[in-house]
Amino acid sequence: MKENRLQRLLDQAEQHNSALVAVNVSNVETIKAALHAAESTQTALILQVAPLQLDFQGIDYDEFVELVSVLARRHNVDYALHLDHAEEVEHCLRAIDAGFDSVMFDGSKQSYDQNLQGTKAVCYAAHRKQVLVEAELGRVLGNEAGSDEPSLDDVYTDPQLAKAFVEETQVDLLAVAIGNAHGFHVGPPKLDFERLNQIRLSISRPIVLHGGTGIPVDDIRQSIALGVRKINYFTELDSTFMNAIKQEAKENPSALMIQSFAKAQRALSDDIIAKMTYCSSAILGKATTPLASTSSNAYQPHVTASAQTEEVIA
Ligand SMILES: [Zn+2]
Repeated sequence: MKENRLQRLLDQAEQHNSALVAVNVSNVETIKAALHAAESTQTALILQVAPLQLDFQGIDYDEFVELVSVLARRHNVDYALHLDHAEEVEHCLRAIDAGFDSVMFDGSKQSYDQNLQGTKAVCYAAHRKQVLVEAELGRVLGNEAGSDEPSLDDVYTDPQLAKAFVEETQVDLLAVAIGNAHGFHVGPPKLDFERLNQIRLSISRPIVLHGGTGIPVDDIRQSIALGVRKINYFTELDSTFMNAIKQEAKENPSALMIQSFAKAQRALSDDIIAKMTYCSSAILGKATTPLASTSSNAYQPHVTASAQTEEVIA
């Protein structure tokens, strides 16, 4: 039976009471930036891609698995590959067949029953191939939400419903809505830690926090202490990359594409390092999953953790 890389990393995170940083990647630059960050901090990570990102890039599931594995070859990095926010069962099945370690079926915009049935179908296919499944219960609002926002009681994850959902679907990880949101926030989000604690007590599963952008470091730490084992970062990392390109274009209008992309890659790597530093050191003050050894020809990081570490993630 093949080993599931994510399961191993989640077991380690649980042991150390820390969380894995999940970074959305979609092309050579973003994959390399994430690998560099993981290698230079000796910290495991989750590389994830959403079907929408694959569509934009014109890359299919098989190609993406190969691309990541080719680029990871020269790096001494412990990672797992995850499909993020798949709203169609079909997309999950394609990722399972292609060799992803885990898939997220996002039925959070559907009815509870549709979410349950979709998650069940994905779990059935995934578990036969030792692939893990993440589902979302409640709704993480933000960029993807419609204009008429529902009331908080309708969108926050209900601990009792979470228990029933996990038992019925046998889903492996659960993404929760406890005040977190996708995208940039007007002010710091107010997380409902009491609810998070109740969810943790109701389900014996690793909890996933989407919308890491904008959550203050102390709140991230408290979430980890209350059972969050995977934290998704997208918006802030995406804007770090884009801002570096814009900056280069402003300062050096004749810059070549490869020059501005190299700068963006370094900026992104730096930002991921900062996030890994506080997510993985939340309790123990050391890396989540230190690697056994570093090969002699390992990548020499050209970036170092920035002073952002202790600041609020804006
Ligand atoms: Zn998300």
